[in-house]
Amino acid sequence: MKNKIFFLCMITVLTVLFCVTPALAGRAEKLAALEQRITSYTLNPEYKDEIYALAVVKIALESIREGSGGIGACLVDSTTGEIVEYGRNRQFSPHFRSDFHAEMDLLNKYEDRVKKMNDPDNYNNPRECKNLVLVTSVEPCPMCLTRIINSGIKTVLYVVEDREGGMATCLNSLPPFWKEFAEDREFRLADCSAELRQIAMDLFDFSSRSFAKNRVKK
Ligand SMILES: [Zn+2]
Repeated sequence: MKNKIFFLCMITVLTVLFCVTPALAGRAEKLAALEQRITSYTLNPEYKDEIYALAVVKIALESIREGSGGIGACLVDSTTGEIVEYGRNRQFSPHFRSDFHAEMDLLNKYEDRVKKMNDPDNYNNPRECKNLVLVTSVEPCPMCLTRIINSGIKTVLYVVEDREGGMATCLNSLPPFWKEFAEDREFRLADCSAELRQIAMDLFDFSSRSFAKNRVKK
């Protein structure tokens, strides 16, 4: 019996040493290489959204370091070009929050800070978001897209498309109300280099979606 327990313990230790440790080391190396590509990147003046694309991939890297998904977002005042808010995926840190995608985090911070009031008598419309552009490293998912539409923000740029889960490229599939609400909005790819798009995609690839496919369906 003792031999059997010893044998099982050894198998566990060897599995950790030969399977888990190299995987973690590989992840750390990949992250370090990505960080290097981001810090050494030089903005290309040919592309007008580069500065924001670079800003959101930097924040996406922070999200991964915290243990969440590799997506970052920022809010730009297009009259000044200034970034007025940042958001990042914070689903798993400090604890699980299913709503904390980067765009949701950004909008929570912005709306809590600005505290707009609904006051039709004084022509105050809380959805008035003149000049604000939301930039995100990955095309918004259905949850974030409807939140953005509801927020009133009219222009959304994403660094890469999300063919498996993005909603901005599927606006025609929205329910009738949301489709109509979205009619005056613009969703498009950010104007940036292929290298920045690749960085955004490589960061996004750190987020695992296998839980949906592999779960036990009851
Ligand atoms: Zn989302």
